[in-house]
Amino acid sequence: MANGSVRVRFCPSPTGNPHVGLVRTALFNWAYARHTGGTFVFRIEDTDAARDSEESYDQLLDSMRWLGFDWDEGPAAFDSASGAGGGPHAPYRQSQRMDIYKDVAQKLLDAGRAYHCYCSTPELDARRDAARAAGRPSGYDGHCRDLTAEQTEAYEAEGRTPIVRFRMPDETITFTDLVRGEITYLAENVPDYGIVRANGAPLYTLVNPVDDALMEITHVLRGEDLLSSTPRQIALYQALTELGIAKETPAFGHLPYVMGEGNKKLSKRDPESSLNLYRQRGFLPEGLLNYLSLLGWSLSADRDIFSIEEMVAAFDIADVNPNPARFDLKKCEAINADHIRLLDVKEFTERCAPWLKAPFAPWAPEDFDEAKWQAIAPHAQTRLKVLSEITDNVDFLFLAEPVFDEASWTKAMKEGSDALLRTAREKLDAADWTSAESLKEAVLAAGEEHGLKLGKAQAPVRVAVTGRTIGLPLFESLEILGRERTLARVDAALAKL
Ligand code: GLU
Ligand code: ZN
Repeated sequence: MANGSVRVRFCPSPTGNPHVGLVRTALFNWAYARHTGGTFVFRIEDTDAARDSEESYDQLLDSMRWLGFDWDEGPAAFDSASGAGGGPHAPYRQSQRMDIYKDVAQKLLDAGRAYHCYCSTPELDARRDAARAAGRPSGYDGHCRDLTAEQTEAYEAEGRTPIVRFRMPDETITFTDLVRGEITYLAENVPDYGIVRANGAPLYTLVNPVDDALMEITHVLRGEDLLSSTPRQIALYQALTELGIAKETPAFGHLPYVMGEGNKKLSKRDPESSLNLYRQRGFLPEGLLNYLSLLGWSLSADRDIFSIEEMVAAFDIADVNPNPARFDLKKCEAINADHIRLLDVKEFTERCAPWLKAPFAPWAPEDFDEAKWQAIAPHAQTRLKVLSEITDNVDFLFLAEPVFDEASWTKAMKEGSDALLRTAREKLDAADWTSAESLKEAVLAAGEEHGLKLGKAQAPVRVAVTGRTIGLPLFESLEILGRERTLARVDAALAKL
């Protein structure tokens, strides 16, 4: 290992909004770097001009910062206020490294480790179909491996422009995956592959290992979907090492697939894979990361809830489980709820701030009441799965009238509800409004007069006051809303009945 210290990288392509599988990859790399005191390199693989966008690039940086993954080398500073990033291997955006790839491709060609391939797509397709039909391996057949000068000239004269193809050695490739153990690929199953397009654009197959080599990456930790590219990369690494471009071949570890509904791989297109969705719903970064860490890893058999510091202290790539991991949204929410409860109240109120104003909050800014918010917050904190739920839970305090949920109204307002509400109003009017307990006794007493238990008696009161059958503890809610507004709402409900 170079200098004996770990260098890992996270190298996404900016092709759309980040998904949770990608976040898990970033997390495992970052945690491994922090655990080992190594270096976390953040590189942007933006060589596909047709799919990459500046907007996705900005989104990636913003997501990384929100998640708290500080990086040691990268295209911009982790802290956006402190300006440009960088590091000894800058630039860290592949779109700015095109000369490097061109140079390496030329060196591979000069050394005979790569060659020009003039085959057209229809020709390749026809030969592949024929090979399949004959039951032979259907990858590239080596047609252009050893073209004579005349053959090359003839192709050039036809106006063909070649791609650059890497010449795979004719040998079995074996490596020890850090997660899955020893893996072997037979030479016949790994054909020569393209590394530069006919238009001169270098491909992922070249730029990714070249940068890993130049950036002296020691451990490549990435999703299992990339496993099939590893034997090719190992062969390329050997060539790069012979050419003095790479120091050594990194270790590889492939993280297990993340499965979604119906035991299918969670895809980028599944709505539940979108990181932005989790942010908008008010997941805490620490809650989401805690859950994602469990996709292939665990702290211990009996502890699901832990901090990122605890994860870093314990994380070793060797402990990652190769079996597919199932993404369970319910569990993700439950873990997030636990992290919400773990915040101190002040922190909780601050984190809720975005959901207490437009566009999330339906009330006018001047109707927001800080004192009421501070009073209700501790009751809300123990009940939220995600922060965005705060808005519906406290809107009754800041809106002139509750938002009546149709189903709640029908469910709570039954025959006799008006009589009960009238009694409850009387008793609430006479209660001690500095004590939630006294308000509870008032409703309890009203219920008794009508032969109803507390649960049944409080439902119409709750709907009259908050608009919904479920919400925060009722009597604390009434106390905070205040006597006058509570009674006015009961009156309004009575008028509607
Ligand atoms: N840019 C590649 C991707 O996002 C990186 C793959 C790798 O980690 O090697 O799929
Ligand atoms: Zn060819």
